[in-house]
Amino acid sequence: MSDSQSRKRAIQKKLDSIKSNNKNEWTISDWANRIQAGDKLALSKGITLIESENPKDYERKEDLIEACMSQSSNSFRMGITGVPGVGKSTFIESFGKEVLKNEHKLAVLAIDPSSNVSGGSILGDKTRMEELSQLDEVFIRPSAAGKSLGGVARATREAIILCEAAGYDFIVIETVGVGQSETIVKEMVDFFLLLMLSGAGDDLQGIKRGIMEMADALYISKADGDNLKASKKALANYKVALHLFPPNENNWVPKLGYCSSLDKTNLDEIYNVTQQFLRHTKANGSFDDNRTKQNLNWMLDSFKTQLWEKSSSKPEVKKELEKLKKKVANGEISPFKAAEILVSLSHE
Ligand code: GDP
Repeated sequence: MSDSQSRKRAIQKKLDSIKSNNKNEWTISDWANRIQAGDKLALSKGITLIESENPKDYERKEDLIEACMSQSSNSFRMGITGVPGVGKSTFIESFGKEVLKNEHKLAVLAIDPSSNVSGGSILGDKTRMEELSQLDEVFIRPSAAGKSLGGVARATREAIILCEAAGYDFIVIETVGVGQSETIVKEMVDFFLLLMLSGAGDDLQGIKRGIMEMADALYISKADGDNLKASKKALANYKVALHLFPPNENNWVPKLGYCSSLDKTNLDEIYNVTQQFLRHTKANGSFDDNRTKQNLNWMLDSFKTQLWEKSSSKPEVKKELEKLKKKVANGEISPFKAAEILVSLSHE
């Protein structure tokens, strides 16, 4: 029997042993057990529950996250960003295989800020990472759509917890290098990779300085064929520019290089950089400090969201909110006063 067959059998055996009273509705503990046993369907359904904005799902959602959170995990969370067309999805397809060679289970999640604004998607609705998505030890989930960026970010952060409970120990969060989404991704990962194009002469203008400052590694993509020479030149320019940046909080000097997903150049180097980073930040404590900081921010964010969700689902608040919206729009009441009324109604 192949490795993958025996793994599937082991998962099935575990799942068969999980009893469920009702086939259509798992209890939270069945559900968490299934996720933990590696059932991808239970994981997908769990993420769908998390993405739900239906107030009747809130309680189950919180319980499921809580049940999954108790599983300890030794995961590495990596953010990847870059402008549309830089080669992110091709990179993840090739780099993902490098990650698997090193005996990880890989989950790829995405945050696409465009999907709720335009209804379209910059990251692409097409089936991406086709080969990778077929593999047993890989789980790929596209960005949640139709929500605010904050809502997508929250759902992704919770999806990370579920993926980790399912044993995925290398988590990639992909986003596009436009708007606010990089800052949001930065706040939920351990390590951030920026992919860049080697342009003709204007290398340093295309990317906002702020994004470059956030990166733990910057790689020029598509360094192959006729583009290799330009990539080397661009790399030299970036090295000079980056020299002028202040050092990172964690004392890590960002790594620079070039890579090709087609020729598979330097993908092993990038994997090694992630492992160096891990050793460096574990040794000086910044890995754990960063996770703690992120958890505290998460708590505050969840506190605000839960207050909002619980208050705004009250019928009297809902009704008043609609009235007050009109009054604020007509200048009949100040936004501050309107909020005060809503807060006092929430407490009744
Ligand atoms: P994304 O929008 O950042 O996800 O970019 P894609 O992965 O969809 O790639 C955009 C285009 O660049 C596609 O036509 C890819 O075939 C091409 N591409 C991606 N990676 C490479 C590479 O390493 N070398 C070359 N020559 N082309 C690449």
